Amino acid sequence: MNKKGKLIVISGFSGAGKGTVVKGLVEKYGYSLSISATTRNPRPGEEDGREYYFKSVDEFKNLIDYNGFIEWAQYVDNFYGTPRKFVEDEINAGRDVILEIEVQGAMNIKNQYPDSVLIFITTKDKETLKARLTGRGSEDEATIKKRMKRASEEANSIDNYEYIVVNDDLSTCIDTVNSVILSRKCAKENNLDFIAQIKNEFTLEGDI
Ligand code: ADP
Ligand code: 5GP
Repeated sequence: MNKKGKLIVISGFSGAGKGTVVKGLVEKYGYSLSISATTRNPRPGEEDGREYYFKSVDEFKNLIDYNGFIEWAQYVDNFYGTPRKFVEDEINAGRDVILEIEVQGAMNIKNQYPDSVLIFITTKDKETLKARLTGRGSEDEATIKKRMKRASEEANSIDNYEYIVVNDDLSTCIDTVNSVILSRKCAKENNLDFIAQIKNEFTLEGDI
């Protein structure tokens, strides 16, 4: 099987439950998770180095200048970026890494890592999204409006993803995303070297 780890990109509308689903994937299935840097303020309960590395705009721009991100993007009023070193170390060590990032970042990753897996998480409808965003209670009305507007724009990007998973029942969603990843890892085109090796071993004459 392939020795290098894969990048698993999870995107979705703000409030669709990506963070909750990703947490479940890490806890239940042991995926490695990239922690992004951001210039937004921590939400209540968020800790520096756990949900995000919280940076000032100057610190963030400095990291861009030093090639510290494999991708970065602006989302609503803030910058977000994926630190390079952790991701490269993990995939070189053969571990699959989840990146929970928005659509511009997802496209950027696909260009750099063509075998990455792009998964879009959504609620079953817009009404459920708004209820979850409001229910989370972490954003004011104006920010919720901006995020709903951004969701309408992002809906046009769903076609760029390879898989779409509805987050209705949480544990079903977590298991479905894991199945998608496993199925992709078993795909023929991801295992060409391994297939060649197996063919070679099994077609060697003599020692059956
Ligand atoms: P995102 O990371 O996509 O912005 P969150 O993971 O913060 O979204 O989830 C948004 C809100 O929806 C949170 O309050 C979370 O507890 C809730 N939530 C997530 N998944 C589900 C689900 N399957 N059913 C009901 N509520 C959910
Ligand atoms: P939030 O503020 O809700 O935590 O995140 C806002 C958006 O930024 C989400 O869509 C989230 O997936 C995305 N995001 C988080 N980290 C990164 C990152 O490193 N790069 C990019 N491109 N998007 C990110």
